[in-house]
Amino acid sequence: MNQGGSHGGYIEPTCFAYVETYDGGSKLEQSLRTIGPTEVDHRTVSAPYLRIVEQRAEGTVLLTQWDFRVTQPNVKRMSTATAHSLEHCLGIFLREETQSVLNVGPMGCLTGFYITTIGMDGYDSMANALDRALRVTTTIESVPLANDRQCGWAGDHSAEAAARIAADLLAFRAEWHQVTAE
Ligand SMILES: [Zn+2]
Repeated sequence: MNQGGSHGGYIEPTCFAYVETYDGGSKLEQSLRTIGPTEVDHRTVSAPYLRIVEQRAEGTVLLTQWDFRVTQPNVKRMSTATAHSLEHCLGIFLREETQSVLNVGPMGCLTGFYITTIGMDGYDSMANALDRALRVTTTIESVPLANDRQCGWAGDHSAEAAARIAADLLAFRAEWHQVTAE
């Protein structure tokens, strides 16, 4: 099953309209089209992978929720320092690659990251932006924003671990679209 790639077709170029108050019964809510969410069995997935979890659209507006699974669920997870430093790197470098990225957040299980985008124009565009952000991460000598003014736990970082896991992920770049083992 090739979930990541097959969902790439839903994506269209778009822009975003913001509403100040969110009301479940509002016109916007009624007009939202939810595509997904698509679920996976964590016992049968094959990390690393990048997949579209859910998309919401209204007219030409498209929000996409992504999973970037880094380690194999229930087998291996990142250390807090690794996840934290990679979060900082992706949060900075991915945003430098594309304005479509709204947020990058670590999964609580420390096996991957949630990424939210607006107007990302296709699976390959997202994968390529991630690829470039990880390439930058492999070259870092210090973690961006790892100081007590800009980070909530500045002592828990490892530039070396972030660079190493970024290189590991890039080594599997050709398989990111494969969510499950084939
Ligand atoms: Zn931090």
